[in-house]
Formats: sequence, structure tokens, C-alpha cells
Amino acid sequence: MSTQIRLRNCAKTFADGTRALAPFDLTIEGGETIVLLGPSGCGKTTILRMIAGLEFSDAGGVISFDGDDVTRQSIEKRRVGMVFQSYALFPNMTVAENVAYGLKVHGVPGKERDARVDAMLEMMHIDMLADRAIDQLSGGQRQRVALARAIAVQPRVLLLDEPLTALDAKLRVRLRTEINALLRKLGITAVYVTHDQEEAMALGDRIVVMQKGEIAQIGTPREIYRKPQNPFVADFVGAANRMTGQMRDGRLHIGTHVFDAVDAFDPRHGAIIDQGPVELYFRADGLSPCDLDEAHFTGRVEAVSYLGERLRLTVSGIGPQAITMDTHADDVIEAGADVHCRVNADRLTVFPAVAAQS
Ligand code: ATP
Repeated sequence: MSTQIRLRNCAKTFADGTRALAPFDLTIEGGETIVLLGPSGCGKTTILRMIAGLEFSDAGGVISFDGDDVTRQSIEKRRVGMVFQSYALFPNMTVAENVAYGLKVHGVPGKERDARVDAMLEMMHIDMLADRAIDQLSGGQRQRVALARAIAVQPRVLLLDEPLTALDAKLRVRLRTEINALLRKLGITAVYVTHDQEEAMALGDRIVVMQKGEIAQIGTPREIYRKPQNPFVADFVGAANRMTGQMRDGRLHIGTHVFDAVDAFDPRHGAIIDQGPVELYFRADGLSPCDLDEAHFTGRVEAVSYLGERLRLTVSGIGPQAITMDTHADDVIEAGADVHCRVNADRLTVFPAVAAQS
């Protein structure tokens, strides 16, 4: 029942010559939540607006909803719901009137309209605010109204453009959880734009990581986090640690140490990296503190942060830059101390050194 969205060979160069999107293909399955993630200006909003029908692809691009070609259809015909960072509510209408607006436009009769507005307000936990004016609402309440208004008309697709960016951190997390539950409950196909990787991880069934108008990687949050396909994704999604090494006959050399079990497949070239200088990317679990006799390296603890279940150490003297590594919360380690650590080779992602610099 939920709508599958397919974009084929879509691209966008604006009239002033700005190339916002290089040609790309993307399929969003029915009921799936896709997050478009990337730094400012990478083209996220342009993709969203293309799906909405607010922007059209360059010649040759095709967009279909469940196989129906909607490429030239207007936003009204496509039946998409949109929620923006700026709430775009009607300030001179009450909460209930705002939510009823789209239903009115679609010709839903009075009684049914009232019932649907009530149901929406209840679902978004704002039923007690029905008669309030928009300017008497908090940012979080306004965003709930915007969501209620967008889903009241039962759109085929829900498009959300940084809907939580204007809210404070705590409210952002709470609403994020609610939006997640709402999308599951409705089973609606959703496309969500953000530059916040934590939000992307929390909400996306799959994440599309974008860089300068190109898709850098598409994958589940786990794939994106654990198996970044290029240095950009490794860096952008969860700060990555870096070290340098050498591949020789398929084995990884870091200093005088040699490792066998490394993931040295370069997806960009579709080949195993067998020889040559490499850059190693890894998360806070790529190195672990250990006793001297099993250590590969010894570094100096620059800082210790308490993260609840674990301690995160910032350690210098191992890679070109300081490295973060986690240890048990009850370990007693202080800044200024030496720390011995070993490499967890299965946690390293290896890129050719040249690609790592691009
Ligand atoms: P942000 O997170 O800042 O909203 P974004 O990833 O959503 O960024 P887009 O808004 O899609 O990026 O913009 C992509 C590129 O296209 C940017 O370089 C932007 O300046 C450019 N751009 C967007 N709209 C237009 C326009 N109407 N005319 C010319 N260039 C545009």
C-alpha cells in the first residue's frame, strides 16, 4: 500500500550554472524511511524538492511513484506531505484550522474533516491545543501541528526537511523518537533531510550520504557506520580515527606490526588493496587498552571523558592525529598517563592513501 519512489538518471543544474546534483539513481521502497544526510549545500533539499514536484530534473531524469511516471506532475497531483524547518503554518488560524486546511482544499466534508482533525491532534498529543493561535505555541508544538497538518491529508509520501533543526537539543531527541514511532505506525514512505548524523542513524531504515551533489554511499545505519565506502563517509558519519600503514602482499603493516585480518577491499575500484600505502579509518573500538606484553602501541592520554557505560580516551603519540578509544567505565585512567593498546584489525577500514586524500 505504501508508495515506492524511483528516481532514474535525475540531475540538476540551476539556471545560473550551479550544478546541484550530478546524475543519480535512487529507489525508495514503500514504507521505508530514507534519510538524506550530508553537509550544507550537498544537494539534499534539491532531491526532496524534486520528489515533491517543486523542482524538476534536468532532461532525461524520470521519477515514478509505484511505477507511475510523475516526472512532470505538479505537487498537488503527487499527493506528498511536507514538513519544513520553518513551520510554514498559517499564523492567523488556530491549530485545528491549520490541520483542517488541507482537508478543506481536498474537499473532505465537514463532519469527516472534524473527525480527522481530532484524530490527528490526538496522535500528535496536541488535542488540548486545538483552539490556540499559532503564535501562542512553542517551537516543538508548532512542529507537531506541522506534522499533523502534513499527514492529515493521507499523503502517499511524507517529506521532511530538517524539521527538528530549530528546536533545542532535548526536545529534538524527544520529537525524533516520536516521529520514528509515527512513521512506523503509519507505514508511510518518508524522506527525511538532515545534516545531523545522530538523527540520521536514529531515523533511517537506510541513509543516503551525499557529498557535493553526488551520492557517496547508500546503506543501513550499520553499514554506513561500520563499512564506510570512502574516506568522506568515514569522516562525516561519526568522527573517525586515522592511521597510516602499508599493504604488502595482502597483509597490513603498521610500523613493525603485521596484521592479516583486515577489510582491505576498495569499493570505489572494486578491488582488493594488495600493495601500497594506505590510510586506516576506525571508530573508538579500533584500538583497545591492554597490558604491555600484548600491546602494539603505547600512547599518552590527553583527555578522559565519562560517557556513562564507558570512558572515552583521547590519546596522542600513535597516529598523525590524536585517537579516541574507549575503555570500561570503572577503569582508573587519568590524563597524562601512558596507555598501552592493541589494534583490533577487524575494526579497521582500509583505503588507498591516494583516495584518502581526495
Ligand atoms: P542545506 O543543508 O544548506 O539546506 P542542501 O544539501 O539541502 O543544503 P541544496 O539546497 O539542495 O543543498 O543546494 C544544493 C546546491 O544548489 C547549493 O550549492 C545551492 O547553493 C544550490 N542551489 C539551490 N537552489 C538554487 C537555485 N534556485 N539557484 C541556484 N542554485 C541553487
